[in-house]
Amino acid sequence: MELVEPAVSSLNMETEAMRKNSTLICVPIMAESIDQMLIDMHKAKAYGADLVEVRLDHLKSFNPSEDIETLIKRCPLPNLVTYRPKWEGGQYDGDENRRLNALRLAMELGADYVDVELQVIEDFKSIRGGKPAKSKLIVSSHNYVNTPSVEDLGNLVARIQAAGADIVKIATTATDITDVARVFQITVHCQVSGVPIIGLVMGERGLMSRILCPKFGGYLTFGTLEAGKVSAPGQPTFKDLVNLYNFRQISHDTKVFGIIGKPVSHSKSPILYNGSFKSVGFNGVYMHLLVDDIASFLQTYSSTDFVGFSCTIPHKEDALKCCEEVDPVAKSIGAVNCIIRSQTDGKIFGCNTDYVGAITAIEDGLRGSCHTSNTTGSPLAGKLFVVIGAGGAGKALAYGAKEKGARVVIANRTYDRARELADIVGGDALSLADLDSFHPEDGMILANTTSIGMTPKVSDTPISKQALKSYTLVFDAVYTPKITRLLREAKEAGATIVTGVEMFIGQAYEQFERFTGFPAPKELFKKIMESYS
Ligand code: NAP
Repeated sequence: MELVEPAVSSLNMETEAMRKNSTLICVPIMAESIDQMLIDMHKAKAYGADLVEVRLDHLKSFNPSEDIETLIKRCPLPNLVTYRPKWEGGQYDGDENRRLNALRLAMELGADYVDVELQVIEDFKSIRGGKPAKSKLIVSSHNYVNTPSVEDLGNLVARIQAAGADIVKIATTATDITDVARVFQITVHCQVSGVPIIGLVMGERGLMSRILCPKFGGYLTFGTLEAGKVSAPGQPTFKDLVNLYNFRQISHDTKVFGIIGKPVSHSKSPILYNGSFKSVGFNGVYMHLLVDDIASFLQTYSSTDFVGFSCTIPHKEDALKCCEEVDPVAKSIGAVNCIIRSQTDGKIFGCNTDYVGAITAIEDGLRGSCHTSNTTGSPLAGKLFVVIGAGGAGKALAYGAKEKGARVVIANRTYDRARELADIVGGDALSLADLDSFHPEDGMILANTTSIGMTPKVSDTPISKQALKSYTLVFDAVYTPKITRLLREAKEAGATIVTGVEMFIGQAYEQFERFTGFPAPKELFKKIMESYS
């Protein structure tokens, strides 16, 4: 024990010294028994949480007069006591007086914070009387349907303040990622006026609100002990907040980056960029951005704080239309996968880094195998290059292969899109249904740029194993999983395979350099991707 304690406290001091914000991370404790709650509280402390939220409504059996005292007195961290009723999104379905009396007792027993819903705050005050208490009163309002206008949110804050809150808590629901901006606006307003506020937006589209609250002056955010065990929709884990998003280092001048997509949660980009930002000491945070409409996203988050975005399905073509300036290669490809906002005039510039990432990986694959005798020019020159898909990645691959002197054929589910792309790059078109019977020659190259075979539909593949015999090299842009069914069968059929992870790393080098101005830490990129594949 004596040996361990100084090490732990020096570690804590080190973490404290690195902290750049005062926003607290609270771990919700939602066990069904008192014993398990105590265990979870200690786990939260070991993780480095600032406080725990004791969710009394999750307890299966509960004797307020004994159990509240145990939970408060034996809690190793500052505690927030919440007893959420069903009508406000919690688990408690019993008598209101019993519930409010339990919260009163928590205050009398010295809980650090007690959360009471705005809807019953007057009832709570009359039960409590005017007795002084050490506890801070959080008055909360939860909206599980949407996020009201800034004006309505402002009125809500005023009502919560007038009710005597020490801390205002507003949790709304994001039906669109742009909803979060209104909660940021209110949070900044409260911070400027000295009103402590917890402003969070629930759901996957609200993730930004949970990560960026230190930037805008939020009082607290929630981080769970385990993935998926949330007390409200969209909560990240404590470990992700601290280790992935470097939450303790986020400050008002931290620059914001992210991957814009729908779906987007599968993307490994946050792991790659946040780890690399940290390694070069860059003050930025990168996150998943579930975006429905890229134009309204870019219009809403138009300040120079929102610096750079990667774009994925299905936004790469719309992204091009949103940029005020576009790199000529991206213009020819017709797709943008990287957006940068100028720090001088706020204008947005779009480029395409998929092209270089994918083509370089395929060229390396061909050079590594003995399928080419061409040592000076591109090993792609003269090859028949079949691209499956005509979306953003398909366009980049088709353009890149053509640039390197390959003969290009596009196979797509929607034939008209294949034809359109083939006409642009000067190639031939096929419908995806005809791909299996297409083998004009041996030694062809195949590049899948559709999401076929991506997690969770890992048993899907765009082409039969039999047809793969005509290909020398098969590339798959899908990188979750790393080895797709297509790649597994291609290898079995004797082809060289190139994974989407290699493209991912290649396209990310250039984005990183554009985002930060620093050279990309290439070895670290590889290490990070290896550890997650
Ligand atoms: P996109 O612009 O939306 O294009 C999607 C393409 O896939 C379209 O051609 C579409 O055909 C086709 N498609 C989609 N679902 C299909 C299905 N069930 N059956 C047949 N065809 C289908 O998307 P994107 O941005 O190009 O991305 C495509 C894939 O590449 C994604 O899996 C993405 O994760 C991956 N990617 C990987 C990297 C990397 O670094 N490894 C980089 C970029 C993209 P229709 O025209 O008929 O709709």
